Amino acid sequence: MDYPDSSPRHWRFIYASITDMNNFLRNWGRELYIFNENLPDLFTDISRLFEIKNIFSHEETGNAVTFRRDKEVKKFCDSHNIIWHEYPQNAVIRGALNRNHWDKHWFEFMSRPCENPELTPDKILKLDEETKAALPLFDPVDSWILPDPQMQPGGMTAGNRYLKSFLESRCLQYTGNISKPEKSRTTCSRLSPYLAYGNISSREVYRKTLAVMQENPSKRRHLNNFLARLKWRCHFVQKFESECKMEFRAYHRVFADLKFDYRPEWIKSWEEGRTGYPLVDASVRCLIKTGYLNFRMRAMLVSFLSFNLGQDWRNGVHFLARLFLDYEPGIHYPQFQMQAAVTGIHTVRVYNPVLNSQRLDPDAAFIYKWCPELRSVPADLVHEPWNLTEIEQKLYNIRIGEDYPLPVVDLKSSVKQNVKRIYDLRKTEEAVRENIRIKKKHVRPQGGGQ
Ligand SMILES: Cc1cc2nc3c(=O)[nH]c(=O)nc-3n(C[C@H](O)[C@H](O)[C@H](O)COP(=O)(O)OP(=O)(O)OC[C@H]3O[C@@H](n4cnc5c(N)ncnc54)[C@H](O)[C@@H]3O)c2cc1C
Repeated sequence: MDYPDSSPRHWRFIYASITDMNNFLRNWGRELYIFNENLPDLFTDISRLFEIKNIFSHEETGNAVTFRRDKEVKKFCDSHNIIWHEYPQNAVIRGALNRNHWDKHWFEFMSRPCENPELTPDKILKLDEETKAALPLFDPVDSWILPDPQMQPGGMTAGNRYLKSFLESRCLQYTGNISKPEKSRTTCSRLSPYLAYGNISSREVYRKTLAVMQENPSKRRHLNNFLARLKWRCHFVQKFESECKMEFRAYHRVFADLKFDYRPEWIKSWEEGRTGYPLVDASVRCLIKTGYLNFRMRAMLVSFLSFNLGQDWRNGVHFLARLFLDYEPGIHYPQFQMQAAVTGIHTVRVYNPVLNSQRLDPDAAFIYKWCPELRSVPADLVHEPWNLTEIEQKLYNIRIGEDYPLPVVDLKSSVKQNVKRIYDLRKTEEAVRENIRIKKKHVRPQGGGQ
């Protein structure tokens, strides 16, 4: 919980998810117990009261903390003759050295029927008061219990509701709105936190989507695009599973040594949504309040940090992890490195915040919502507020530089300088050699994508 990628919004979501499961289990007169102790110490405590024969868990592709914990649990299980059953939640192959048969594996995993666990009372243990008192039961803090109405609620019930409404009607606008910061909020599936925390499985989503596609040809195009992203999900988690050092450094050896001119005041302006670029600022402020942004805006934030502010991706990776309600290390780290262009093999994508603003938020609905100080400025002028003349500023009753900041950096010259560094490095012999290693390990063959 103290790790820099962790934040109370994640724990609130997890706690709500467990509460939801408990509501469900109440039908069988049973409940889940939450303990607050490190593993494997908790197992030592439990084994004083019960004989542990099996441990069941999902297979986690997590950060360094959960990896270390898993190694300790494994050691404990081996030395106590306990069988640890881990169930994969993604089509991820542990220890994979390349992607040669990965697509086939993904398809087989997704096509497998979902589990149908037996929840009869005699299979589930109920603790009496005395036993409970002997174990470190957890009391949640207030910030976990109180719901935040601006964020998606945790739990299987909410996850199923989002899936149902998406497949019924929201998906019809999926493709057209996917990059728009405001409209995508209702027409993307919004399933990411439910997938990240296991409220709903990607297999279940896949199967239900296929069923809807068979019945509704008009939804096919949109749902095909959606399923492609569901596959990307596993593809990215697989990258992180195969090369988890990317939590700490660029997985491309040459880019790992890239030097940056550290400018904490620029990073602060980015974190506070005060860069002077309305779409960037609205995105950060929206994320702080709601925990969600669509893909394009996330990519734009990383692009701005890397190519406009010229900062090391590591100076933003934990900040955004804490803000994303759907934080999933397996997607987050590889995506972050890809958008920061430190993977060497991907196209360098610079997202110009002005052009994106004019194209994707033309009526400025998103900007006005999150930067209310700009509401008096007409939509056609609000994308570049630094260009407002003295007379316009008087007319719209706003002082740029006081009520709303001036741009922290110049858009064009900053990109030129920072992108040149990337391209220069990409040309070096060592980079080309490293590309071969990376492609072999992480890229799916036969045009299967990067
Ligand atoms: C820098 C950066 C960091 C990101 N960090 C995360 C993260 O921590 N957790 C996370 O779930 N997603 C992350 N994404 C991917 C993507 O932005 C979100 O999955 C998506 O916006 C979630 O919204 P949705 O559920 O409505 O997506 P939909 O468009 O409805 O897609 C359905 C599902 O497919 C998966 N998916 C969608 N887009 C991508 C993608 N580009 N890469 C991998 N999987 C994808 C997600 O599980 C998503 O829920 C990140 C993207 C970037 C650029």
